[in-house]
Amino acid sequence: MSRVSVEAAPIAELTRSEPVPAVRARAIRAAYQLAGRPPLAVLDGIDLTVASGELVALLGPSGCGKSTLLRILAGVQLPSDGTVEIDGRPPAEARRAKALGLMLQEHALLPWRTALDNARLGLEVNRSSGSSATLAREALSGVGLTDFADYYPHQLSGGMRQRVALARTLALRPRLLLLDEPFAALDELTREELGWELTRLRTSIEATAVMVTHSVAEAVALADRVVVLSARPARVLAVVPVELPRPRAVDVEGTAEFARHVGEIKRLLRGGVETSQPRGSSDLLRERQRVPS
Ligand code: ADP
Ligand code: MG
Repeated sequence: MSRVSVEAAPIAELTRSEPVPAVRARAIRAAYQLAGRPPLAVLDGIDLTVASGELVALLGPSGCGKSTLLRILAGVQLPSDGTVEIDGRPPAEARRAKALGLMLQEHALLPWRTALDNARLGLEVNRSSGSSATLAREALSGVGLTDFADYYPHQLSGGMRQRVALARTLALRPRLLLLDEPFAALDELTREELGWELTRLRTSIEATAVMVTHSVAEAVALADRVVVLSARPARVLAVVPVELPRPRAVDVEGTAEFARHVGEIKRLLRGGVETSQPRGSSDLLRERQRVPS
């Protein structure tokens, strides 16, 4: 299979179009301060630019700061330093305008509400109950839970609860989806199925997505670019463009190109070294992202 190489666009071209990126985070630092302890540095100067319509996966070792970064992008947590813009405005503003949908790792469903009523949670303001129910039903059907709309959380499996939480985020049809390990509680096959479904739904609502995952295969299968983070405090080790054609289907995982991407990313994760200089052996790595930063 031929190797596809993506070069950074020429400067002239970038300045001509200059679209506002969906996400622009610059020099993000974060630290936690617990009483009687030295500050815990979690994010160590993260730059991230996500173009409109892209799906970017954030991959990194457990505890490196992925969830922290996602909460900062969503504006529910402030960085110690650095700036974030979502479609050119502060994240809290984007969140209030329902321009971004956040699915947290600990996705609390309300135990006294059915799957359908949980899925329509974010929709109830400014919408008739009929239209919010329709959107919530569509989202539930998208995650394969049509038959479980009137089940309560305790009557659902862990994976089904996770799908309800995903449906709740999708039902808002935000321009930007921020998803924290959306498939973590699912078995391998459901995870794959839902991953493809997410890709389809995301394309149909024309949303941009930043998805945290710890699965290299999932990142490569779904993402346009994979941002590989170091151990805590997280730095960006590399940005790997996934050069697999779209639309992708499940059989992409059997291809040599897929294996090559997975191998390269695993090598980066194992080495934990920054690739500020591209390595001779690798043409997956690019110093510059495809969008202006
Ligand atoms: P990841 O999602 O990559 O597993 P997190 O962002 O959840 O990582 O956590 C990164 C580090 O920050 C961990 O060491 C964790 O213990 C710490 N941490 C996360 N949230 C808090 C918090 N609210 N208070 C103190 N420490 C926290
Ligand atoms: Mg996490």
